[in-house]
Amino acid sequence: MPSTSEVIDEQPRSATVTAESATLGGESKRSVEQITLLAFIVLPFVALVGAIPLAWGWGVSWLDLGLMTFMYFLGLHGVTVGFHRYFTHGSFKAKRPLRVALAIAGSMAVEGPVVRWVADHRRHHKFSDAEGDPHSPWRFGETVPALMKGLWWAHIGWLFDEEQTPQNKYAPDLIKDSAIRRVSRQFVLWTAVSLLFPPLVGGLVTWSWEGALSAFFWASLVRVALLHHVTWSINSICHAVGKRPFKSRDRSGNVWWLAVLSGGESWHNLHHADPTCARHGVMKGQIDSSARIIRIFEKLGWAYDVRWPTQSRIDAKRNKDGDSRKGSGKGAAAASARREEAAADAA
Ligand SMILES: [Zn+2]
Ligand SMILES: [Zn+2]
Repeated sequence: MPSTSEVIDEQPRSATVTAESATLGGESKRSVEQITLLAFIVLPFVALVGAIPLAWGWGVSWLDLGLMTFMYFLGLHGVTVGFHRYFTHGSFKAKRPLRVALAIAGSMAVEGPVVRWVADHRRHHKFSDAEGDPHSPWRFGETVPALMKGLWWAHIGWLFDEEQTPQNKYAPDLIKDSAIRRVSRQFVLWTAVSLLFPPLVGGLVTWSWEGALSAFFWASLVRVALLHHVTWSINSICHAVGKRPFKSRDRSGNVWWLAVLSGGESWHNLHHADPTCARHGVMKGQIDSSARIIRIFEKLGWAYDVRWPTQSRIDAKRNKDGDSRKGSGKGAAAASARREEAAADAA
């Protein structure tokens, strides 16, 4: 077993779970959720491509921009604070209402049901950049064409892989929680709320169909497209480039220019070096809005037992070999060990 502090290793392997699936499609590929996902990758992307020319003709109102910003950061932090740091890695504990609210806010990002998201992401950490990782950009090899193909795979292709992460194995804690299971199964409902709220506000404020349409275009379609591509950039860009000041057994890097749009998630090298840490941008000046929000929740008494970074722990994680892009011999050995584990996993 790899000796990192991932939440999946802390859970009993054979936990008994209810037979009811936490997502409508269970583990099959052709579910209503996968179709929803496909529609919301293609449609917002088309919207994004059309956005710039339309901006000249239509203009974009302050209301549209405000709604777009609000909905973007609501869904973003639902994913970064909720799906990622809380549900996947347990970097803090949350009172019941916050727990449910985070599951709902993350669902509004339209990145799939919470249980599926968490299961995929735990598998990503278990096999990061080795066989078994659902979205490594190094999947096809290290040559330039292989990396180009791999980047596409890590960005979008993996979402349509036939092989789905077994939810019972990777997210038994969430499946056992009836409220979380319900939110996860209601993914299509939360998608609808997320997309219909902006046109409702836009329409009511301007009292016009144009206002509703314009808000739908900017604050629903363009916003979802942007959020999708920023989130997936963590899987693709942050596993291919970036600085590696910390020891991790994969290719994760810190990419500063994605820090604001990703809510601090692009300090991805630190995250793989210390997955349960509540703050990813641990160094001075590293913007991490998700950590700030966790701090606010802590002050309000809604979050507790937060795993904040300590100086000694950070120092111990530092990469003493310098900022090397290539895996060392030791890294290669670890990768081959994980490959064997992946084979055992598949059996
Ligand atoms: Zn990663
Ligand atoms: Zn993670």
